[in-house]
Amino acid sequence: MSVLNLKDHLNILTQLQELDSEIYHFKAQKNSAPVQIEALKTAFEQKKQKLTELDKEALELTKQKKDKEMEMGSKEEAIKKLQSQLYQLKTNNEYKIMLKQIDDSKADNSFIEDKILEIMEKIDNLKNTVESERKLLAQEEIVFNQEKAKIENTVKEIEQKLTQLETQREQLTPGIDKKILSQYNKILSNRNGLAIATVTNNSCQGCHMFVPPQVINLIKMYERIITCEVCNRILYTED
Ligand SMILES: [Zn+2]
Repeated sequence: MSVLNLKDHLNILTQLQELDSEIYHFKAQKNSAPVQIEALKTAFEQKKQKLTELDKEALELTKQKKDKEMEMGSKEEAIKKLQSQLYQLKTNNEYKIMLKQIDDSKADNSFIEDKILEIMEKIDNLKNTVESERKLLAQEEIVFNQEKAKIENTVKEIEQKLTQLETQREQLTPGIDKKILSQYNKILSNRNGLAIATVTNNSCQGCHMFVPPQVINLIKMYERIITCEVCNRILYTED
């Protein structure tokens, strides 16, 4: 049997609630830390992905350039071959046809050469972009690591505060009747960290619903624990 009367109990429960509200707040803050870090990481990875894509683009352009150079090389070989055959031809007509072939191939090659120059310009531009993106990303990585460390430090601070609060809590609980404490704890976990609510202007400060005068009278009699009919929180009044 507890030596405290109900009024004393409600008094201790409000002190306990003050600690528990802080504990609830800090725990929520602590729980959001991994989500925050994950969001920062995702944003950073997306920026990293952009650079990977630019690198891929540069590689693709280099390959295109190589292909065009090979194409030009083999056309040059073909032109040389045709030119060496020119003087072996017997008729003027054959000569004309082959000369036209040579000219066409040369025209093709000049077109390919323009293409190669175009690709080279693209590669140069891309190299500049990649370089500045890489510098930017290095900066971003520093910022990301700083932000992450900041959050991790906050978590450590919160853990210290939680330990202190839990100790203070343990000092308050031994005086409380076990049944009342277990009722309080149950409401605390079911009702977002608020187990006991004051009644102000006929309204429960836990759910802001109307509390009838006869219920308020019951609270003031201090015969038993009175709970809100709507949110089920323990009710008390400030004298
Ligand atoms: Zn309520």
